[in-house]
Amino acid sequence: MDLGLYIHIPFCSAICNYCNFNRGLFDAALKERYVAALMREIAGSGDGAAADTIFFGGGTPSLLEPSEVAAIIGACRTAFAVTADAEITLEANPETVTAGRLAGFRAAGVNRLSYGVQSFRDDELQRLSRLHSASRAAEAFAMARAAGFDNVSLDLMMWLPQQSIAHWLESVDRLVDLAPDHASLYSLELYPNAPLREAMARSKWSLAPDDDAAEMYLEAMTRLDCAGYRQYEISNVAIPGRESRHNLKYWTDGEWLGFGCGASSTRRGVRWKNLSSTTEYIAAVAAGGHLQAERRELTARDALEEALFMGLRLAGGIDLNVVNLRYGVDVWALYGRELERFRDDGLLIYDGRLLRLSRAGMLLANEIMSLFLSSPVVD
Ligand code: SF4
Repeated sequence: MDLGLYIHIPFCSAICNYCNFNRGLFDAALKERYVAALMREIAGSGDGAAADTIFFGGGTPSLLEPSEVAAIIGACRTAFAVTADAEITLEANPETVTAGRLAGFRAAGVNRLSYGVQSFRDDELQRLSRLHSASRAAEAFAMARAAGFDNVSLDLMMWLPQQSIAHWLESVDRLVDLAPDHASLYSLELYPNAPLREAMARSKWSLAPDDDAAEMYLEAMTRLDCAGYRQYEISNVAIPGRESRHNLKYWTDGEWLGFGCGASSTRRGVRWKNLSSTTEYIAAVAAGGHLQAERRELTARDALEEALFMGLRLAGGIDLNVVNLRYGVDVWALYGRELERFRDDGLLIYDGRLLRLSRAGMLLANEIMSLFLSSPVVD
């Protein structure tokens, strides 16, 4: 399988009150130094291997100038054998794009856009301290189509403060009306010190009960099914053929290289992660020093657990014959007794070869998948 290349852009125009990603406030001078460091890291890592995806994630990659995106893609092409049909994705925030910038990104080689919309209701966007409005998100989508992007993904977040099932489904319906090629639906996860927690306490905003959250997920998926999308992962749906080729590498035991601060890589049985701090990363690149903050060889057990854990996220599930050939482990023989209980409850489906979660099982994915962790089976 060809490599995926991930490029981390850690800058945002403002910091959202729920966000726990590796990012900081935009600073034009720092960004220029960072892009130069990225180019140097990419050039120094290249070995001519084939790569068929490039993914600009963040942060807010759409704060880059199109010329910077073009230069980074150029560096990837010089260092790796990027295939002619490579999927090149740029994550974008609706408020950062204009027709001119989108045309520039397209000319730079970007062929897939992923917009962080989160909601099509202004009150919800304001509670999340997002900078765009619902109408700006729709406009940004229309501008992407006008600029020639025929592969656009929209992200929505559910289980937001004060969000009812009906409010959530308004956003889902609005998304369906726009007809993007791909959509990602995530639940809001509040990390312990998130400023949004304080805002919720101050303003007495609450979250819908768990049962409502389950209904939000199931009803959204049903509506997306009816609109012609195919769910291919717990949180992701696509028009057939428009699945994210880059993200599939994470879920299908693939290999990828991450560039930039905090970016992680997995290749040839080794996983590593770069320094998280933007300035430390830039300084380490400039000094020709060591960029890796963490590095570990994956044991056979790590690799098996991950293959099962990530593979079960896929709607198509895991082919246990393939796992057996690759890892020499008969998963059903080892875990079958415990898995049987989930199968009896309709949460897991197993046909003797493919093991997959039912949609109801996807709601309990973590509980089911935790079975595969810390069981002393292989080493
Ligand atoms: S725009 Fe995205 S990455 Fe930036 S702060 Fe908001 S949620 Fe985080």
